[in-house]
Amino acid sequence: MGRHNQSVTQRKKPKHAKKTLWRICGYLPKYWHMILISVFCTAFMTFGTIYATRLIGVAIDDYIITLDFRGLAKVCIVLLVVYISSSVFTWLQSYLMLWMGQDITANIRKELFRKFQVLPLSYYTHTTNGELMSRVTNDVDNISTMLNSAVSQVLQSILTVIGTLAVMLYLSVPMTIAVVAVIPIMLVLVGMITKRSRIYFREKQKTLGDLNGYIEEVISGQKVVKVFCREEAETEAFSKWNDALRRVGVRSEVFAGIIGPLMTMLNNITYGIVVIVGGMMMVLGIGQISLGIISNFIIYSKQFIRPFNELANQMNAILSAVAGAERVFEILDAEEEPRDDTDAMELSAMKGDVTLSDVSFSYDEGDTTLHHINLSVKAGQTVALVGPTGAGKTTIINLLSRFYDIDSGKITIDGMDIQKIKRSSIRSALGIVLQDTYLFTDTIRENIRYGRLDATDEEIEEAAKLSNAHEFIKHLPEGYDTVLSDGGGNLSQGQRQMLSIARAILANPSVLVLDEATSSVDTRTELHIQEGMENLMQGRTNFVIAHRLSTIRNADLIAVIDHGEIVERGSHDELMAQKGFYYNLYTNQIGNQSID
Ligand code: ADP
Repeated sequence: MGRHNQSVTQRKKPKHAKKTLWRICGYLPKYWHMILISVFCTAFMTFGTIYATRLIGVAIDDYIITLDFRGLAKVCIVLLVVYISSSVFTWLQSYLMLWMGQDITANIRKELFRKFQVLPLSYYTHTTNGELMSRVTNDVDNISTMLNSAVSQVLQSILTVIGTLAVMLYLSVPMTIAVVAVIPIMLVLVGMITKRSRIYFREKQKTLGDLNGYIEEVISGQKVVKVFCREEAETEAFSKWNDALRRVGVRSEVFAGIIGPLMTMLNNITYGIVVIVGGMMMVLGIGQISLGIISNFIIYSKQFIRPFNELANQMNAILSAVAGAERVFEILDAEEEPRDDTDAMELSAMKGDVTLSDVSFSYDEGDTTLHHINLSVKAGQTVALVGPTGAGKTTIINLLSRFYDIDSGKITIDGMDIQKIKRSSIRSALGIVLQDTYLFTDTIRENIRYGRLDATDEEIEEAAKLSNAHEFIKHLPEGYDTVLSDGGGNLSQGQRQMLSIARAILANPSVLVLDEATSSVDTRTELHIQEGMENLMQGRTNFVIAHRLSTIRNADLIAVIDHGEIVERGSHDELMAQKGFYYNLYTNQIGNQSID
């Protein structure tokens, strides 16, 4: 069972915890006033609770025993005020922290999304979409949990421990020692359990990651699963993962579940110790112990012990947030598409002369993809790039669009070096029609409008007519308002291509790059697409990654590429006469229908 995704769990622990934590703190100064109010609220409610507890002791000793109801009523009113204001402050501080946490994480998400737009395409070929998405959602969520609650709870825990300890020491040192004595025992026991349960939790996370990876694969590969009739086998394999997750899930939860009862037990033991030690001291008249003090100690011991257990939980939340933040910062720090030179120019009206002189390029160092390419195309001409798969045709297009920058040589548009032209300017002058275009989950109208956002509905229809898409759109029940789903999954390949042609017509680029469809569509649709393409190509400089004969025949120039070099060039007739590489490709294709 080799196919599963382990990346989810591989890096739960942060590598540079301190540095990352410090960087998260960098987001805080902007919210200093909220933090200040929040710290004040936390301090108030923590000390308020400790004070109220003490008041109960005083009430027992001074008013209940003496049956002083007036005094008791006074204490009750004070208690009520403290409790009510504590709740208000609790609410206020959690509101402020939530607001801050959500605001910071919304900003981080925005930063990430902006970053996605400026990362070079090569970044996406090295990272899976799932991984990137999980960083924007899961990891950012973890940061938000930490900012929302963990930090204020840690503060509250620390203040509670200090406050209760101080009051207990003030009331009775021997009894405080009796309470504190339980702490080491508790820490050792809880430490042992959490260590074990952490192993089980990690195992559970890993199994969950495997299961998720498996589900993702089977869902995306449903077509293949069905075609090979592997439904039952896959379900059986899934059951194995599912069972493993159930087993490890039970084990981890059951183990972690021991902590709760253990804490209760320790609390009860502490009560016993407090009552016995306190009672003995009271009876023997040691240290002026009263009934009120004993009851105070019962409550304080509970308040004192709880934070130790909670701190462990909060530390976990903080650690996973820091680990998440590390992954988020990794994206934010990734190298962006290099910025345009400061003196980069805007292209205004473009004629469309394109020249590649002695262009060499490699995706990965040491492995040259294109070797010394020379190609010159005049405005309005059509050049066909022909060659076997992997020859380097798409790479030429990638360089023209400046998705990648060349290693040596020069590419010019209208005589201007494209390195000196703004990327946005090049890309808006360049239209690209890919075989498999991406359509967004939106109406057909808006999908076509993606070519030029300020196009009117009439212009959109006009473009659709020229691309021959109008015919099929008209027959859809909702016409141009049909919502496309799943990247246009509810359209046929041919229809998707016509929409992408319409998009390009609307964008009206001077230089056009066409990646002709290799997959077979029916002859009628093919004719329609061809006609749309011809409409689109008129009056522009066209680069066609050609798979079909018709375009090649009419092209002004055919460049035959093999292993990253132009091995032959000329018109169809010239190349046929040479009886070389192209001739072989062409004659082979007669039976195959496609050159690629
Ligand atoms: P064609 O379009 O002619 O089929 P390509 O230009 O896509 O060929 O590919 C040319 C060579 O570059 C191939 O060997 C391919 O493996 C390699 N290649 C393509 N894209 C990348 C990439 N993003 N990173 C590394 N190598 C790539």
